[in-house]
Amino acid sequence: MEYVLKTANLKKYYGKYRALDGLDMCVPKGAIYGFVGKNGAGKTTLIRLICGLQKPNEGNYELYGIDSRNKEIVKSRRRMGAVVESPSIYQDMSARENMEQQYRILGLPDFQGIPELLKLVGLENTGKKKAVNFSLGMRQRLGIAIALAGSPDFLVLDEPVNGLDPQGIVEIRELILRLNREQGITLLISSHMLDELARIATHFGFIDRGQMVKEISAAQLEEACRKRICLRVSDVGILSRVLDEIGLEYAVLSDSEAEIYGKIGVTELALRLSDQGCQVESMQERDESLENYYLNLVGGQLTPTEAGRRGKHE
Ligand code: ATP
Repeated sequence: MEYVLKTANLKKYYGKYRALDGLDMCVPKGAIYGFVGKNGAGKTTLIRLICGLQKPNEGNYELYGIDSRNKEIVKSRRRMGAVVESPSIYQDMSARENMEQQYRILGLPDFQGIPELLKLVGLENTGKKKAVNFSLGMRQRLGIAIALAGSPDFLVLDEPVNGLDPQGIVEIRELILRLNREQGITLLISSHMLDELARIATHFGFIDRGQMVKEISAAQLEEACRKRICLRVSDVGILSRVLDEIGLEYAVLSDSEAEIYGKIGVTELALRLSDQGCQVESMQERDESLENYYLNLVGGQLTPTEAGRRGKHE
């Protein structure tokens, strides 16, 4: 698989505080990578590093295969656009004027691409209206248009829907999908809004206390969160045979346990098993929500204490 971004043992300290504590992550080309972690997990720190706004204390990363310690990294960064924290917008300028300013900063030869970009983000009809009078969602979309000015093929968005109303969230969601599907842009999106990310992400990276806890594709995550029934029986061989006969999907977990996916007729299954001499010892329904999956990964702690986090490294 081709990766746009790869980090290896990336560390960033603020004094004694380890904001990134050996982070390993891989963003596949073409992905919408949901970078998930609670407040303070280290998401923005990672983004600042890859944007070149700060330097790592240890470890390195690769952008398009170029190592962060190589001078050529500057070229790789030109292929990347980012909206970090709040979008960098001149409040007293219109959308078009903001775009022109960015084109000048990038030294682009003309303003030809601007109308198309403004249309892409749904700001083509804002005329002379100044950014200060835009809604939060419009500002966020203008920030994205500015980040797209250099025609990047990798776009990094830090908490893009934070504070937006439902309509604003839908607009950003649709824009992200369009950028990915129609323009082939790889996206790295940091967020702690799991449910929102679950609608669009193709891959997830769950970060906690500056470390990657799990990287998983959306398909694998869906599988992991699927409704299932866990059966403990006296003979798993008989259970497998009966499940095959009924045509149910299942996974054998041990010599006495199996997980069955999809809807099952519990009574029919129990009777068939009993007919063949297999006893059901326990039956449990499991339905893991994305939220639960995440909380299980990070140890169920929603707000780790600062002392706990520091103590780990001292
Ligand atoms: P959020 O969702 O709140 O933005 P985050 O995952 O983006 O969280 P970071 O902004 O990367 O988290 O911060 C990680 C930790 O590093 C936080 O505890 C934060 O207080 C700390 N931190 C970030 N920047 C600095 C800094 N410049 N100086 C000192 N500590 C910092």
